[in-house]
Amino acid sequence: MTTIAHHLRLVRDRINAACLAAGRDPASVRLLAVSKTFGAEAVAEAVVAGQHAFGENYIAEGVEKILALRRWQADETARTGIAAAALEWHCIGPVQSNKTRLVAGHFDWVQSVDRLKIAQRLSEQRPPELAPLQICLQVNIDGGANKSGLAPEAVQALAEEVAQLPRLVLRGLMAIPEPAIDFVAACALHACAKALFDQINAAGVLAVPMDTLSLGMTADLEAAIQAGSTMVRVGTAIFGGRG
Ligand SMILES: *Cc1c(COP(=O)(O)O)cnc(C)c1O
Repeated sequence: MTTIAHHLRLVRDRINAACLAAGRDPASVRLLAVSKTFGAEAVAEAVVAGQHAFGENYIAEGVEKILALRRWQADETARTGIAAAALEWHCIGPVQSNKTRLVAGHFDWVQSVDRLKIAQRLSEQRPPELAPLQICLQVNIDGGANKSGLAPEAVQALAEEVAQLPRLVLRGLMAIPEPAIDFVAACALHACAKALFDQINAAGVLAVPMDTLSLGMTADLEAAIQAGSTMVRVGTAIFGGRG
């Protein structure tokens, strides 16, 4: 087994154990492998190990990898005669206006939307032959300075507007809480995001309720799952340190 395959198994074990501890079904938490700064070969290794959803922070780097993996899969299919599994690419980094066309043309999800203008551009620029872009709004859940994301009080209004855009599907919320001193403190931060998520769904303002709460990374995935995360975004524990 390769190192990445072994690491993936360990991360899936952590997710399963956290679900067991929280009394949740392990099938209710998806794993997003965050491959930023690692090459296409590392992603291919993870694909061979059964991982199909990947997160990228930097647009140009992500698009390059998306195209490289598409070529690799086409070569593999030609060689083996076995159709390749579809990969799912999530943009999880800041998106400037001048990058929306690239993002809309290549990614399947954008988890880092925090402005209506960016959402509008993504909707307008989503190519008609592709499925609608799946969207999470990024929330600055602990008011961390210098952090992207909407203030919690602003989330519901933007959610209502994004849900109306024709080429987007509003799927949920994403947050990156500050590192906490211990498990209990981490759970409390994640629980704030879960409470906001539940509150907006309960308000009944969305025709389709949100189904994705993207919370938890290498250091805090157990706390995130305890609080109700449905998607953990893990980089370091799968691909190694980013130096
Ligand atoms: C880098 C990154 C991750 C992964 O963090 P690790 O600590 O390496 O697991 C998750 N989410 C976002 C938004 C990131 O930028």
